[in-house]
Amino acid sequence: MAEMDGVTVTDCERCPALCESRSRIVNGDGPEDASLLFVGEAPGAQEDSEGRPFVGRSGDVLNDALRDRGLSRSDVRITNCVRCRPPDNRDPHTEELANCRGYLETELARVDPDLVVTLGKVPTEHLLERSVAVTKEAGSVHDVRLGETTHRLLVCVHPAATLYDRSQRSTFDEALDEAVALVGAGAGDQSRLGDY
Ligand code: URA
Repeated sequence: MAEMDGVTVTDCERCPALCESRSRIVNGDGPEDASLLFVGEAPGAQEDSEGRPFVGRSGDVLNDALRDRGLSRSDVRITNCVRCRPPDNRDPHTEELANCRGYLETELARVDPDLVVTLGKVPTEHLLERSVAVTKEAGSVHDVRLGETTHRLLVCVHPAATLYDRSQRSTFDEALDEAVALVGAGAGDQSRLGDY
């Protein structure tokens, strides 16, 4: 059984291990017409408990970074490649990413943001469909075909990386500066998307 109501998955049992480990399905959060959409990996414990993406320590890092750039969480949409918490916070398996991909593509097509920002290795590799050294490629912009729609994607390190490796902080900050400059959000209407 798999059901979707607009951009919200209401029921899904495609991944037996994730059905066991989850308390609930964690859908994307934020306006359905957001110009900036962040994609993370999968819910963690806090997200699984509250039913919203990025509400734990990684979420604090992301919220603070948005606030520092004149944005609030309610200005952006935040979602994950996989909507159910993997056991012991392991990375989602290839098959689980594939099972959840259609939901993500539907959400991206419906929201149709000006820019998709991938947070970390898993979402970046999943959407670019190649291996990526995220620290090296952070800040790079790509046009990617996802399902029926082409999206502009900017690579960013995961907010959690800034917590365990302080040297990642400037990489994260510079990528977010670039994201905000590209969509013009929080900085008037100075979109530079046409430059790329
Ligand atoms: N990390 C993620 O990738 N997603 C979340 O929702 C929370 C932490």
